[in-house]
Amino acid sequence: MLYLSTRGQAEHLDFSGILLAGLASDGGLYMPETWPEFSAAELRALRGLPYPELAARIIAPFVGSSLPFATLQTLCRRAYASFTHPAIVPLIQLSPTLHALELFHGPTLAFKDLALQLAGHLFEHVLAARDQKITIVGATSGDTGSAAIAATAGRKNIDIVILHPAGKTSDVQRRQMTTVNANNVLNLAIEGNFDDCQDIVKALFADGGFRSEVNLSAVNSINFARIAAQIPYYVTAALTLGAPDRPLAVAVPTGNFGNVLAAWGAAQLGIPIEKFLVASNHNDILHRFLASNDMSIQAVTPSLSPSMDIQVSSNFERLLFEFLGRDPEATRLMMYEFRANGHMPVKPAVWRKIRGQFTGFTLSDDATIAEIRRTWREAKYLADPHTAIALAAAREQNPIGLPVIAAATAHPAKFPDAIEKAVGFRPPLPPHLADLYDRGENYETMPNDWTAVAGRVRQFVKRNFA
Ligand SMILES: *Cc1c(COP(=O)(O)O)cnc(C)c1O
Repeated sequence: MLYLSTRGQAEHLDFSGILLAGLASDGGLYMPETWPEFSAAELRALRGLPYPELAARIIAPFVGSSLPFATLQTLCRRAYASFTHPAIVPLIQLSPTLHALELFHGPTLAFKDLALQLAGHLFEHVLAARDQKITIVGATSGDTGSAAIAATAGRKNIDIVILHPAGKTSDVQRRQMTTVNANNVLNLAIEGNFDDCQDIVKALFADGGFRSEVNLSAVNSINFARIAAQIPYYVTAALTLGAPDRPLAVAVPTGNFGNVLAAWGAAQLGIPIEKFLVASNHNDILHRFLASNDMSIQAVTPSLSPSMDIQVSSNFERLLFEFLGRDPEATRLMMYEFRANGHMPVKPAVWRKIRGQFTGFTLSDDATIAEIRRTWREAKYLADPHTAIALAAAREQNPIGLPVIAAATAHPAKFPDAIEKAVGFRPPLPPHLADLYDRGENYETMPNDWTAVAGRVRQFVKRNFA
């Protein structure tokens, strides 16, 4: 399997290549040359397999000849051994048609663990095979940083440096990053906000000398390996609900569009997903686009579902590429115009095609609290704020009564304040994190100055190369 860029000007790479590259050199995103397809019989044969086995079989065609199947299988088993639920991704029925797909039983209690735990093992394997070392540097407002650290802590050939805005993440989020005790992990608290952290990371990537000196790499959701690793959980849930012999819908709390794109990928493989409900908080660019073809950038304001506080959904470019008939010129022009004018000019015919499959949904913070309360009262189910928005979308936007898989993307204990406001108590952390508040923290505070950060990263990395 080879991968091509949505903007058509980067070299085609195999799976190992795109894993290490992340973003394509022309600024585009890598996509598989063709989507693998599974026949109905092949899909039915996957029913009942343990999750790591099913995941290996679904991911195998994306990996192609980059890894032997037995190696992929071993890495999947290792990746999901860190999950605390025997089903890895349990499906919980909440009403005759509504099902919550719990994606938060990994080490950091959010769905990003599903992709990043596997990515950590894939990185380690591919780097060892190539005898290479990388330095991952990333900025986080919370969830991604902790999941990336959990996925790479203690891995050979990888150093990871995560920047977070000092004093501006939640206690749970900061402690999940800073209590990890591994000598390849460096946490930097930057005296600034999240945008400052992101600007520092961009400046480091823009410095060609520094970039090659430390072999800089990123872990954001633009890496197609992450998308591939998110497809199996939709497949297993859909099989449980009767696919490929019964059509269904999915509802996905959406930020960067990676998770809902993975659901769309499951449909390309042969799972009959007829509707994709794209759930947003009041930062509703995707809802405005799907409702009225208005993809225009507006200021982001904080919400109770911080992982969806976005201006631009980077993975949307992949969907656009597909709905433009995989035309890289057209994709490139539209992305340039979007960057230049803050508005994406999608032709009405293309927009209508997207609308045929995708429906937007937006919910305010107050309504999110009400939804958490209602779900608790009616189904005795505790949903985190992100999940609650997907549940509301599934109830309100399912006119033909399809079975709906709602992605439950975070454990409610990650958002104790919102839960307490809704139901009057704070949910306890699961046992493996129960002592999180007693563990020693490890981080360094630094000024908002990219050259100072570059110096610290260089010094940190040197101790390993020495
Ligand atoms: C990252 C995240 C999302 C958004 O997922 P995307 O793939 O970026 O659309 C939703 N909910 C939670 C809890 C997250 O951590």
